[in-house]
Amino acid sequence: MSFESRALETGTGGFAVETERGRPRPAEVFAAGLRHHHLANTAYPIAHRRTIWAHRRPVEEHARLLVQSLTHSPEVSLYVHVPFCERRCAFCEYTVLDRHDAALEAAYFAALKTQLARLTEGLGLAGKRLRGLDLGGGTPSLVEPARLGEIVAWVLARLRPAPGFGMSIETTPKIAALAPARLAAYRAFGIERISLGLQTVSAGLLHAYGREVQQVDHNRRAVENIRAAGFRTLNVDLMYGFARQGLDDWAESLRAAVALGPEVITLYRMRYKGTRVEGEAAEAALSQAVAMAELAGRTLAEAGYHAPPGKNAYVRSARDPGTSAYLTSRVVESVPYLGLGLGAQTFTNHLLAYNHGAATKQLEPYLRALDAGELGIQDLYHLPPSEGMAKMISVSFYFGAVRLDTFQRRFGVALEERFPAEVEFVLGRGLMERAGSALRLTAAGAQSFPGVIALFYSAAVQRHLLGLEGG
Ligand code: SF4
Repeated sequence: MSFESRALETGTGGFAVETERGRPRPAEVFAAGLRHHHLANTAYPIAHRRTIWAHRRPVEEHARLLVQSLTHSPEVSLYVHVPFCERRCAFCEYTVLDRHDAALEAAYFAALKTQLARLTEGLGLAGKRLRGLDLGGGTPSLVEPARLGEIVAWVLARLRPAPGFGMSIETTPKIAALAPARLAAYRAFGIERISLGLQTVSAGLLHAYGREVQQVDHNRRAVENIRAAGFRTLNVDLMYGFARQGLDDWAESLRAAVALGPEVITLYRMRYKGTRVEGEAAEAALSQAVAMAELAGRTLAEAGYHAPPGKNAYVRSARDPGTSAYLTSRVVESVPYLGLGLGAQTFTNHLLAYNHGAATKQLEPYLRALDAGELGIQDLYHLPPSEGMAKMISVSFYFGAVRLDTFQRRFGVALEERFPAEVEFVLGRGLMERAGSALRLTAAGAQSFPGVIALFYSAAVQRHLLGLEGG
């Protein structure tokens, strides 16, 4: 057993001054992150078979490891994945099914309930408090509202909400425009935040990527219905960094989002990996994405929306983190999160797991595993500290910053002690700065985000990046 594994088995102590052996030099890793900017992002880790496969554990150990990993966590957050969509957009990286009918929906929600019951009753989760619950997808609003209400009720009957608990759901402009009764139902379940997946209003892009062209009227009516239903927070999602997207296209989408008057506008950079248009990645230059991010910053600031460098959620109120309670708890406090449903991910700082379907996007293995009395998990990795830290830091970069106090609390060592060369590198080059109890990206660091985030990856993942052909 390695030193790191021993430290993990015995808790967080014991590796305060131990640094991971054989870490490549920061300057080389930084350059590799920039070179492979489509891979170096918050979706950590990459290339599982080459990087973290040695930490994969057999299915018979899943329950024991989950229980052990959650023992000292009084709180968790929960994500419920609903994989149904009207059609699959070519740019989508998520686990989405092409088909959807009532029978499939019924089978899927029965499986979700089975998985939830196994996790809560079988693994002792029932005593924990719930920080946040997200219903995402896919398109959760495509299914019968009663099914979602039942899942919400099941969760809340098993996990007591913690102070600050909140629920969020995703929808599309079309459904929000045409099915206002669904929105009212979500409010009745207690959901107070809703996310509208606008992505782009460019007709050219929508056609090119097989997504229905949204009617401007749909967008306006969707927001009217959301406001009428009484949601506290409306978020609008936009995507940028497509190979086929020009700055004019992007400016048009930004203006359209601002015109809808949401509390939050969240910008997602196109990641290509796992999409049907992965082959276009090489044509989407980092400089183009940086120019789009800068245009967004200026346009949104003029409209009264702000975000610190590197954070992708722009808000009008400084009191609003812009993200759901689920994501906020993950990023700010590194609260363990559990994924329910096809391909969903679980992370506890020491353990990373993916439900069946994450790689194959097939539903049947997930249903079969639950029928067979399993937890529905396909791959579970018992992480050494270097991998747990890299994952925690990668998640933190959703906010463009790593909380130093959270890192110390979760891993029992200061970030500067564990990553001395990397911290010296980012501070010395003006890529990050200390801001209160956080290490935060500067404007220059935000422009070089893929290089900065790669610095904190494990040596195994860094070596993988360094070994790839130039991109
Ligand atoms: S981008 Fe959204 S609507 Fe399109 S397939 Fe993916 S989850 Fe579904």
